[in-house]
Amino acid sequence: MAFRFALVGNPNSGKTTMFNEMTGSTQYVGNWPGVTVEKKEGKARKTKEDIRIIDLPGIYSLSPYSLEEIIARDYIIDEKPDVVINIVDASNIERNLYLTTQLLELGVPVVVALNMMDTVESKGDQIDLKLLEKALGVPVIPTSANKNRGIKELLEKALQVAQTAAAGAAAKTEGRSDGPYDKNVEAGISSVRDCMTPFIGEKGPNPRWAAIKLLENDEKVIEKLKLSDALMEEVKAYRSKMEKDFDSDMETIMADNRYNYISGVVGKAVRKNAAGGSLTLSDKIDIVVTNRILAIPLFLAVMYAVFQITFGAIGSFTIDYIDVLINETLAGAASGWLEAAGAAEWLQELVVNGIIAGLGSIMVFVPQIMIMFFFISILEDSGYMARAAFVMDRLLRKLGLSGKSFIPMLMGFGCSVPAVMGTRTLENEKDRRLTIILTPFMSCGARLPVYALFTAAFFAENQSLVIFSIYILGIVVAILSGIILKNTILKGEAAPFVMELPPYRIPTAKGLLIHMWDRGKGFIKKAGTVIFAASVIIWFCQSFSFSLQMVEEASESIFGIIGGAIAPIFAPLGFGDWKSAVALLTGLVAKEAVVATMGILHGLGAVAEDSVELAVSLQNYFTPLSAYAFMAFTLLYVPCIAAFAAIKREMNSWKWTLFAVAYQTGTAWIVAFIIYQVGRLLGLN
Ligand code: GDP
Ligand code: MG
Repeated sequence: MAFRFALVGNPNSGKTTMFNEMTGSTQYVGNWPGVTVEKKEGKARKTKEDIRIIDLPGIYSLSPYSLEEIIARDYIIDEKPDVVINIVDASNIERNLYLTTQLLELGVPVVVALNMMDTVESKGDQIDLKLLEKALGVPVIPTSANKNRGIKELLEKALQVAQTAAAGAAAKTEGRSDGPYDKNVEAGISSVRDCMTPFIGEKGPNPRWAAIKLLENDEKVIEKLKLSDALMEEVKAYRSKMEKDFDSDMETIMADNRYNYISGVVGKAVRKNAAGGSLTLSDKIDIVVTNRILAIPLFLAVMYAVFQITFGAIGSFTIDYIDVLINETLAGAASGWLEAAGAAEWLQELVVNGIIAGLGSIMVFVPQIMIMFFFISILEDSGYMARAAFVMDRLLRKLGLSGKSFIPMLMGFGCSVPAVMGTRTLENEKDRRLTIILTPFMSCGARLPVYALFTAAFFAENQSLVIFSIYILGIVVAILSGIILKNTILKGEAAPFVMELPPYRIPTAKGLLIHMWDRGKGFIKKAGTVIFAASVIIWFCQSFSFSLQMVEEASESIFGIIGGAIAPIFAPLGFGDWKSAVALLTGLVAKEAVVATMGILHGLGAVAEDSVELAVSLQNYFTPLSAYAFMAFTLLYVPCIAAFAAIKREMNSWKWTLFAVAYQTGTAWIVAFIIYQVGRLLGLN
């Protein structure tokens, strides 16, 4: 028999870290709230029994006000996991227990994992586990998920609870009699429970919990229970009476009761280190990092430093090395070998000028991408990125945008697909549509090779500065677009959003390596599949004419003709040649394909007699100014097919999807036009 354990806890309490440790998977762990939107399931390793672990989205309570809370709550009630493992951030115990009290009310088997005990210990605080267990009435296991401490004990205890529950001993727990509520509230709850219990079926939720929710006027629960109007009237009468007795509204009464109860428990069970109490190191750093004036310049400086390292000495060293390896050694060997084997000339061309040139032009950037994401992971895991989000949130709210948009947008720097999916956390539909439209303006990893190629060819002296400016351009365009759209077709109130700051942490080597490898792996996999196929097709379309004859002049090929037809659209932007037009067209498949296409069309392979270096060949087609306009266009125009599909799925409307695409492409054209034309007026070239 398989057991199912659901991990439930506040955002950033370590659920995903715990999930990864338990199941051996490598789900994304980020030191900021809101990273896990969908639930994930995995099989626990190193256990005899078949145990499934479910990682639910992070939540602060079980109210019906946010999507995450509804997902988690419905899962617990409807899917009835065998045990709910409540992950509590012990270094923030008071706030975390708010959810715990609500989980206990559900009357389902709960085991509390008191996580981040390492942080508590290093602060010198002490938690009396026995007392806490007694107060909550459920097992409490101390853990440190990121150090793999206590996880084995946690699983054993949960299994024991599950087996006892399965044996029927703990069936229909009624919650604790000395629960969080005072006598008068408890009396009200009991009355409501008694009058409705007969109407809740065997399969229904715990009656006491349902009574509490009815008193709180929780619409989702009311809807689900389908109680008669007469009964609802009765509940309403109880509610009004209690609100009058306490001279307050029901929600406040319940919340006050829970908070009072929790501070009572915490007061008894937690002994704070006497030396602490004043500002922690984390607080001191935050005073500087989130300072109203310093915050944004500091953020820019940090990001600039990352680019400087990535595209400075280390990065270019790896590029030169791999470039020689692939484009000279490998291409030379392949061509010699095919020649010796007597392969047909078209085959030699395909392998060397198609596949090796296409893939090679991309693969050279793998190390740089990995280096960049290594540093970005440090910023994320340490907690700095959450501060950046916090600062940006403040800025965005001033502009009337939802601060919650910032997290998907931050994810967009990795890849637009999960970022667009991440917009599900926005409840307000207009804010969500707006965020979906803006997220692809954040420069994803796939666009990096394009910048790397062009800056190496045209801005060798200031490579990192120019790439940095492209990233900033994306952010600025997104903010301006947000203001424009928010004041026109997507008018509405910005939903409030409370961004919580996680403590600073030293990133773990394992976490960093997982992040870096994830990126690198994804990139290589894409190169081996999509880009590989694209290279073959690109080579074909530039070698053959529409009548399937091999052509002498590439400009007479299929791509030559198509590219020639659309090239005039790009002429005012400074790159009206057919090769650039084709590159942008293939970029719709994946943005890396822009580089692969350039590699193939500019004859990077070793077969052609007159093969030259790609960068040198590009200089015949672009000036620094038009190269910059080209990079800006690549940044802003329609994202790749995968992102397009994600947009369609999340918008759930063709009208909005097409609007998003048209808006992005239109913006790309206008911005590139302005850059090129203004640049020319200023005499830059
Ligand atoms: P989730 O949002 O609940 O899924 O939390 P994550 O698993 O993404 O973890 C949030 C952050 O807490 C990450 O930076 C983890 O490395 C860190 N973390 C997780 N567990 C522990 C722990 O036991 N001790 C410490 N010090 N950090 C932890
Ligand atoms: Mg998570």
